[in-house]
Amino acid sequence: AKAEGGDHICFFNPDMLNIIAARAAMENDIRIGISEQQFALFYQPQVNSAGKWIGAEALIRWRHPEKGMISPAEFIPLAEESGLIIPLGNWVIHEACAQLQIWSSQAASAHMTLAVNVSAKQFRQADFVDIVLTALDSSGADPRKLKIELTESVLVDNVEEIIAKMQLLKSHGVCFSLDDFGTGYSSLTYLKKLPLDQLKIDQSFVRDILMNPNDAAITRTIIGLGKSLGLAVIAEGVETEAQRTFLQSQDCHAFQGYLFGKPSATLNIPHKTPLTV
Ligand code: C2E
Ligand code: CA
Ligand code: CA
Ligand code: CA
Repeated sequence: AKAEGGDHICFFNPDMLNIIAARAAMENDIRIGISEQQFALFYQPQVNSAGKWIGAEALIRWRHPEKGMISPAEFIPLAEESGLIIPLGNWVIHEACAQLQIWSSQAASAHMTLAVNVSAKQFRQADFVDIVLTALDSSGADPRKLKIELTESVLVDNVEEIIAKMQLLKSHGVCFSLDDFGTGYSSLTYLKKLPLDQLKIDQSFVRDILMNPNDAAITRTIIGLGKSLGLAVIAEGVETEAQRTFLQSQDCHAFQGYLFGKPSATLNIPHKTPLTV
């Protein structure tokens, strides 16, 4: 019964039970998936102005025995809410470091860096630094080739603690990129304080860059900001040559997107960069 004078009335909606049940089932499925090794990392190339592959981003995939390949957009948010992002994210770090070490032993890929997505909750776990250092150590991967992608959501509170963790990892050579930049709510004050190496222009700005003057202006601003803060800038979601040309004309020299390669289980580095005369 509703207390008198209250402002809110809660209607019981039977759909809510279904939603709760479906979420619980998926949570349980993620748990099983972790223990049965149903998760895999895909790799998407990152290229420079000359078209040379300079690195890759690791993107998680779930090979579900019944549902097939599930995209991270469907399970990462639930993994974050349930806390399962901790074991899942730690697996990602270990897998990524193992891959980095394999690449470094092959001539064609020895120079490649690997960017790993780390969710705010994962970064905030007390032993995150130890987990990364252990993964680097046990794989033998070069810390300088590991890049951690954080989003602005890591900055909700206790920024000093975040900065301290970043600095500790940086002292070992690990790099940091700020993902989806411009879509969050971080202030420029934080941006100046964070020990970042790179800003990543979100694909939502890149998509309409040629049609939408606002997106073009935002992109230009991010590139200028990166320059004045001494940070590298990479654009994601680059699908067309025209987008690439425009970004390059604005002084952005690193790209990621379907134009260069989709995420895939194995990297097939082109033997030669075609020469444009
Ligand atoms: P994100 O980090 O912003 O990753 C970029 C997303 O854009 C990826 O989607 C990628 O496949 C997609 N993409 C790449 N190039 C293009 C393009 O040219 N056009 C378009 N339209 N899309 C492109 P994906 O793999 O589905 O991942 C979605 C999100 O899931 C990621 O967004 C990231 O936030 C999260 N995620 C993926 N892997 C991990 C992980 O290992 N840990 C955590 N915490 N999150 C992850
Ligand atoms: Ca990312
Ligand atoms: Ca992104
Ligand atoms: Ca994104």
